[in-house]
Amino acid sequence: MKIGVLALQGAVAEHIRLIEKAGAEGVIVKRLEQLDELDGLIIPGGESTTIGKLMRRYGFLEGIRSFAGSGKPVFGTCAGLILLADEIDGQDEAHLRLMDMKVVRNAYGRQRESFETNLPIEGIDEPVRAVFIRAPLIERVGDGVRVLCEYQGSIVAARQGHLLAASFHPELTDDERMHRYFADMVTESLPMQASGK
Ligand code: GLN
Repeated sequence: MKIGVLALQGAVAEHIRLIEKAGAEGVIVKRLEQLDELDGLIIPGGESTTIGKLMRRYGFLEGIRSFAGSGKPVFGTCAGLILLADEIDGQDEAHLRLMDMKVVRNAYGRQRESFETNLPIEGIDEPVRAVFIRAPLIERVGDGVRVLCEYQGSIVAARQGHLLAASFHPELTDDERMHRYFADMVTESLPMQASGK
């Protein structure tokens, strides 16, 4: 099973390491054609405006939409969560618009630009160590979106069918359980995926 990490900008190597620890093959994705060989895709943290621009320039906006449209799972972490959202607070334009949710960028204020905490995630047994870096939060979700975790009254992890989003960076610890959770989503999706690889 192959899980790609979109490598236009941001934390890529760390995701590859945890994908492999979770038992799948990690692929660094730089070219659009590479999407065809993947079963699932992670959009990493970084700077969402920059990644969004590069996605538009290299055709990934449409490419990832049809990837997800064919039933292949996508996991967005931090900036990746922002890229998946239908609506971004204070911005006219969103990016992929795949998940029915409204997000707020840099939601934790300057004095708390980065911090770590343990979070209970629905579907994972013990709390997960979560690293937040200039993190977004999810302000509102639609009916089809399941909240997996709240932190201080705000949603920080959610799932809509085969789409997964987290405000934090699960790749910056040695804990591969979030990646295993996503790899399980990919395994479940395999019989339903449209493209006959
Ligand atoms: N603050 C970044 C943004 O708004 C996200 C930060 C991150 O991915 N660590 O795009």
